[in-house]
Amino acid sequence: MKSVFGEAYTAEDDHIHAHQANRPEESVKSAAEVRRAASGPSRRKMLGMAGALSATVAGLGMIDAKPASASSTGIDTSRVLGGNRRIVDMSHAWGADFPVFRPFVEPARFDQVASVEKEGYNTFIITMDEHSGTHMDGPKHFDNGQLATDEIPAENLIAPLVVVRIADRAEKDLDALLTYDDLRKWESRHGRIPDGAVVAMDCGWSGRINDPARIFNRDAADKPHFPGIGWDAAEFLESRRNIVGVATDSPSLDSGANNYLDPRAHKILLTTGHYGIEWAANVDKLPESGAVTVIGLMKHKGGFAGPVRMFGLY
Ligand SMILES: [Zn+2]
Repeated sequence: MKSVFGEAYTAEDDHIHAHQANRPEESVKSAAEVRRAASGPSRRKMLGMAGALSATVAGLGMIDAKPASASSTGIDTSRVLGGNRRIVDMSHAWGADFPVFRPFVEPARFDQVASVEKEGYNTFIITMDEHSGTHMDGPKHFDNGQLATDEIPAENLIAPLVVVRIADRAEKDLDALLTYDDLRKWESRHGRIPDGAVVAMDCGWSGRINDPARIFNRDAADKPHFPGIGWDAAEFLESRRNIVGVATDSPSLDSGANNYLDPRAHKILLTTGHYGIEWAANVDKLPESGAVTVIGLMKHKGGFAGPVRMFGLY
C-alpha cells in the first residue's frame, strides 16, 4: 500500500535528524527545516536526547520549536502521507450516553476505578457491547466459519474509499436504501468500484448524532426508520465486485425497517467474508472517489464485532 501514501518515512531520514540533533549549532537553519526536524518519529527521538543536550540547546530554543504548519492532529501530514492530504476522522466519540440500537445493543457502562485525586492515575473499566459507537460488524457476526475480527489481515483495513451519496433521498424518505442503481450511477461518474474498496453510504445521518429521535425515527409501533444498504446493492457488491467491506453513517448496514423484517444486507455481505462499519462519521466530508480509509480495529481475540477509530484520507 506504499504507493497510496506516497514517499514513506525512511531510516535514512532518521539518521539525518539524529545527526542534526547531535550537532545543534548546525541544526537551526530555516523554519522549514525546524518543522521537518520537529515532526514525525524523529521528534520523539530528539526529545529523548533533551536531557543531554539541554545545556547547549536551551539557548537556541530549538527543542521547544513547534511545527508552524501542523494540522490539528499535531502531525505534519504532508510529510507522513505525501502531498496535501487531508485527514477526516470517521469515528464518533462514544460514551455511556451514545445512542444504541435497541433491542440489539446495550449501552456501555463506564466505571472509573482509579482517579488522579485518589490513586494518582486515571482508569476506566468499560463494560460494553461489541457494537458500541462507530464499529465494525465482523464476518463472524452471522457465520461461525468466517474470520474473527482479530484475524482480519491488516491490508484489508487500508482501502480505497467509495462514497455513495443518498442523503437527498433520505431526507424525504427515512427508509431510503442504497441501491444497485446508485452504485451503477457512481460507476458511470468515477469508473468501476476499485478492487479492495470499502463502499460507504452517505445518507446524511452523521449530522444527527446528537439527536437520537431523528436517528431512529421510531413509529407508533416502536419500529425504527433509518436508511441502509439495499439487498440488490449488497448482492451486486458481493458477487460482481471485489470489495473488502462496506460502511454506513446510519446505525446499521440494513435499514431500520429491514433489520426487523430480515437483516439480509448483513447476511449477504458478512457471510461472504466482508465486514461492515456502522455509525461511520463525517462521510459527507469525503469525496465520492479518490479517498483512502484506514481502519484501526479493536483486536480482541475471536471478535464478532468491535469499535473502530477510522480515518478517511484524501
Ligand atoms: Zn453492529
